[in-house]
Amino acid sequence: MNDFIYKTGTLYCEELRVSDIAEKVGTPFYLYSKNTFTSHFNAVDQAFGDVPHIIAYSVKANSNVAIVSLMAHQGAGADVVSGGELFRALQAGVDPGKIVFAGLGKTASEIEYALKEGILMFNVESSQELMLINEIASGMGVEAPIALRVNPDIDPQTHPYVATGLKQSKFGIPLSQAMAEYEVAQRLPGLNPVGIHQHIGSQIMDSAPFENSLVKITNLARSLSVLGMDIKYINIGGGFGIQYTDEEAPAPDQFANAIVPLLKDTGCTVILEVGRMIAGNAGILVTSVLFNKQGEEKKFVVVDAAMNDLIRPSLYQAIHQKSPVAERDGAEELKVDVVGPICESGDFLGQDLNLPEVQPGDLLAVFTAGAYGFAMSSNYNSRTRVPEILVSGRKAYVIRRRETFEDLIRGEAIPDDML
Ligand SMILES: *Cc1c(COP(=O)(O)O)cnc(C)c1O
Repeated sequence: MNDFIYKTGTLYCEELRVSDIAEKVGTPFYLYSKNTFTSHFNAVDQAFGDVPHIIAYSVKANSNVAIVSLMAHQGAGADVVSGGELFRALQAGVDPGKIVFAGLGKTASEIEYALKEGILMFNVESSQELMLINEIASGMGVEAPIALRVNPDIDPQTHPYVATGLKQSKFGIPLSQAMAEYEVAQRLPGLNPVGIHQHIGSQIMDSAPFENSLVKITNLARSLSVLGMDIKYINIGGGFGIQYTDEEAPAPDQFANAIVPLLKDTGCTVILEVGRMIAGNAGILVTSVLFNKQGEEKKFVVVDAAMNDLIRPSLYQAIHQKSPVAERDGAEELKVDVVGPICESGDFLGQDLNLPEVQPGDLLAVFTAGAYGFAMSSNYNSRTRVPEILVSGRKAYVIRRRETFEDLIRGEAIPDDML
């Protein structure tokens, strides 16, 4: 379900031709569909309609303020993992009462900032962090609402770099220590334990890991209420998998049908931290072919986008479907590597893939790039970061302009003693 569709051999985003946008803004660029963003949000919202819930949009997936604002207008809160993301969420108009703050290395200034803004809760990842939040909140004369991020030791069957709920993982507090930490939190004057949090990984393609871990989490919730703690929120994290190529991803209601029955009779409000499932298929990266190149063993298609623009293929061996923006009649399929201009062998957008033969100047669409695409981009090789364009019906908005060379050196300084 998305709004990037071929009509008579030409790729459209909603009602606009991708090639027309490319002509205006140049390549490479990220292109998002507003309607796909909102329909994905609504699908998740409806799927979990049987329980009171908050969708805390995971800002790190796509953190452009326009996108976060779009989510806020749908009623979303935000899942933030840094002071910078909290700033973005607030700038975008997210209700602080719907913001949750995760991350295992929160600094004192980030904690103070979040307390001043009155966020919904901190997702606390260690005993020392708990102490620091207590100290800062007490000093400010407030109570910090907290959940403990519990590590349930669950294998989410995903890429090891995005598995976060295994006992070897740096994230969360082991389930075996959670009760004791909650009791500590209950006694401390600056803390108010209101929730339990988990986030077991990303790109999870099956509801079973969620079911297995939520059995553990809901048991913990019951034990805490026996101790007199008023746990009002169960935060099930994010990680719902999506389709990148031909794998089958459960739809939001399939996840919900498996998960909701476990949560319904807890009486808790469910928090979902959804990133990829909303943003992934709501965006593409558009790039131009620069050269075809025949190596000794391989054919290469050199394009103007690179690993600094989209790092997922290099970092996670992720496969992003690619196809020409304009289909050519009778084009021969070739096995190629699609590579960027960066001076690294790891700089590829795809390897050994079948692509219709392309010529210099042709546009290629790299699909499912709306999540962890621009957000993970960098200036490596002093490449300017690309623009982000949001389409709504027949309108296209530049929601981030292309960087200039001046942007590259902003903030840098040459000291006087360079001789
Ligand atoms: C990254 C992250 C998410 C979002 O994950 P998706 O796979 O994009 O849904 C949610 N919660 C936490 C704590 C995260 O770190």
